[in-house]
Amino acid sequence: MSADSQSKTETSADLATAKTAGSTATAFRDFTPYKAKKNEEYMSEGQLEHLRNMLTAWRQELMEEVDRTVNHMQDEAANFPDPADRATQEEEFSIELRTRDRERKLINKIDGTIERLDAEDYGYCDTCGIEIGLRRLEARPTATQCVDCKSLDEIKERQIHG
Ligand SMILES: [Zn+2]
Repeated sequence: MSADSQSKTETSADLATAKTAGSTATAFRDFTPYKAKKNEEYMSEGQLEHLRNMLTAWRQELMEEVDRTVNHMQDEAANFPDPADRATQEEEFSIELRTRDRERKLINKIDGTIERLDAEDYGYCDTCGIEIGLRRLEARPTATQCVDCKSLDEIKERQIHG
């Protein structure tokens, strides 16, 4: 199926999926789906621009989340005389630190993705070379593989690890 026929058969259900899939940590949801013109080339200037804007906005959102986490931890870093309270607080902090670590990694990934996009090395599967597809990129702008290769990798991964 070409990208063109894909966009013609696209339904509101697809858009709903894109908007509800995962949290901010895995996908950026607050966007208007791109409307490709008739016969518009895959990864045209307009599409690249659209995806670049999405990545930038998503990055911004994550940066704000990291800031909020830091501020929250500073506010909460009060003295708790009760050891039980302290233990609870330490556990909370370690969860927040892990979240922050994930967010930082994701920000790095987004940076790398923007670099690839600027180098026009974007939108095609790293493994088999086919078009990843505009809708999939909107749902997951950092995707470097098509759905098939990604699923295959996940199956292989599961076989190796368990
Ligand atoms: Zn592929």
